[in-house]
Amino acid sequence: MRILLVEDDPMIGEAVATALKDAAYAVDWVRDGMAASHTLEVGEHQAVLLDLGLPGRDGLDVLRRLRQTGASLPVIVITARDSVEDRIKGLDLGADDYLVKPFDIDELLARMRAVIRREGGHAAPLLSNGRVSLDPASREARCDDVAVLLSAREFALLQALLLRPGTILTRAELEERIYGWNEEVESNAVDFLIHGVRRKLGAHVIKNVRGAGWLVDKLA
Ligand code: CA
Repeated sequence: MRILLVEDDPMIGEAVATALKDAAYAVDWVRDGMAASHTLEVGEHQAVLLDLGLPGRDGLDVLRRLRQTGASLPVIVITARDSVEDRIKGLDLGADDYLVKPFDIDELLARMRAVIRREGGHAAPLLSNGRVSLDPASREARCDDVAVLLSAREFALLQALLLRPGTILTRAELEERIYGWNEEVESNAVDFLIHGVRRKLGAHVIKNVRGAGWLVDKLA
């Protein structure tokens, strides 16, 4: 899951980026509103954490322009502006949730899990295709009677597939969801992660469609 963090405060940005990486997200961090809008036009992120008071372009303006393009990705506003009017404005412009600084990082992570699963059409906390399930809070994966803990990147891989059971994801699409801008991706990195998940849960869990990519079955 690839997250765009938009935050001009270096200390808050560093703390949030580190916590997100520890929680198995791929994170790209921009520090002004213009860079945020340009990055969002590319469309490589699955969720946005958006500060409102930003140099270049105000966060509310970034949000308004994003929604005008029809983009539906989840946006959580994180801001020191705690007036009721600002909160209402943010939500009316298409924010999915709102956190007022200073916030607890665990609460931020819980809210992210909630907006991300709603975006995927899943109301339940577990991601599942009817046989394989994944708990985004603990990173535990289950298949039949096997329960294992996945590494951060194995989790990111299986999460990407389980958010769209029955849909083939290409190597490039998987890499985009697992790695951020500054991370070097070895050519066989995806194969290595798939091998790791299959070894822990069973070879049948992730299917390969030769020349196309990988998927998990849609069973439920
Ligand atoms: Ca700010």
